[in-house]
Amino acid sequence: MPVLKADLAACQGYANCVIAAPDAYDLDDDGVVFLLKAEISDEDVPRVREAARSCPVSALTIEDA
Ligand code: SF4
Repeated sequence: MPVLKADLAACQGYANCVIAAPDAYDLDDDGVVFLLKAEISDEDVPRVREAARSCPVSALTIEDA
Protein backbone atom coordinates (compact mmCIF):
# COMPACT_ATOMS: atom_id res chain seq x y z
CA MET A 1 0.00 0.00 0.00
CA PRO A 2 1.41 3.47 -0.85
CA VAL A 3 2.94 5.28 2.13
CA LEU A 4 2.67 9.02 2.81
CA LYS A 5 5.70 11.03 3.88
CA ALA A 6 6.01 14.68 4.85
CA ASP A 7 9.11 16.86 5.24
CA LEU A 8 8.04 18.91 8.27
CA ALA A 9 11.09 21.16 8.03
CA ALA A 10 10.19 22.12 4.45
CA CYS A 11 6.47 22.74 5.06
CA GLN A 12 5.55 26.42 4.99
CA GLY A 13 1.91 25.98 5.93
CA TYR A 14 0.39 27.01 2.61
CA ALA A 15 -2.37 24.41 3.16
CA ASN A 16 -2.75 23.53 -0.53
CA CYS A 17 -2.51 19.88 0.46
CA VAL A 18 -5.20 20.22 3.13
CA ILE A 19 -7.60 21.78 0.65
CA ALA A 20 -6.92 19.12 -1.98
CA ALA A 21 -7.00 16.07 0.31
CA PRO A 22 -8.44 16.90 3.75
CA ASP A 23 -8.70 13.20 4.60
CA ALA A 24 -4.93 12.77 4.31
CA TYR A 25 -3.39 16.08 5.40
CA ASP A 26 -4.07 18.64 8.13
CA LEU A 27 -2.19 21.48 9.81
CA ASP A 28 -1.18 21.50 13.46
CA ASP A 29 -1.43 24.53 15.76
CA ASP A 30 1.94 25.77 14.50
CA GLY A 31 0.78 25.67 10.88
CA VAL A 32 2.85 22.63 9.99
CA VAL A 33 1.41 19.73 8.05
CA PHE A 34 0.68 16.42 9.73
CA LEU A 35 -0.52 13.21 8.22
CA LEU A 36 -3.96 11.89 9.08
CA LYS A 37 -3.04 8.46 7.76
CA ALA A 38 0.22 6.65 7.09
CA GLU A 39 -1.01 4.61 4.16
CA ILE A 40 -3.57 5.28 1.49
CA SER A 41 -5.70 2.91 -0.49
CA ASP A 42 -4.94 2.45 -4.18
CA GLU A 43 -8.16 4.16 -5.17
CA ASP A 44 -7.17 7.32 -3.26
CA VAL A 45 -3.66 7.49 -4.73
CA PRO A 46 -4.40 9.75 -7.74
CA ARG A 47 -6.19 12.36 -5.63
CA VAL A 48 -3.68 12.31 -2.78
CA ARG A 49 -0.78 12.37 -5.25
CA GLU A 50 -2.31 15.43 -6.88
CA ALA A 51 -2.57 17.06 -3.45
CA ALA A 52 1.10 16.30 -2.81
CA ARG A 53 2.00 17.83 -6.17
CA SER A 54 0.15 21.01 -5.19
CA CYS A 55 2.65 21.68 -2.40
CA PRO A 56 4.72 24.74 -3.43
CA VAL A 57 7.79 23.51 -1.54
CA SER A 58 7.54 19.81 -2.51
CA ALA A 59 7.30 18.73 1.12
CA LEU A 60 5.04 15.76 0.40
CA THR A 61 5.85 12.42 -1.17
CA ILE A 62 4.05 9.15 -1.72
CA GLU A 63 6.22 6.06 -1.77
CA ASP A 64 5.13 2.74 -3.15
CA ALA A 65 5.53 0.17 -0.39
S1 SF4 B 1 1.03 22.28 0.74
FE1 SF4 B 1 3.14 21.87 1.41
S2 SF4 B 1 3.74 23.72 2.47
FE2 SF4 B 1 1.51 23.72 2.33
S3 SF4 B 1 0.79 22.76 4.22
FE3 SF4 B 1 0.94 21.19 2.69
S4 SF4 B 1 2.98 20.32 3.01
FE4 SF4 B 1 2.95 22.29 3.99
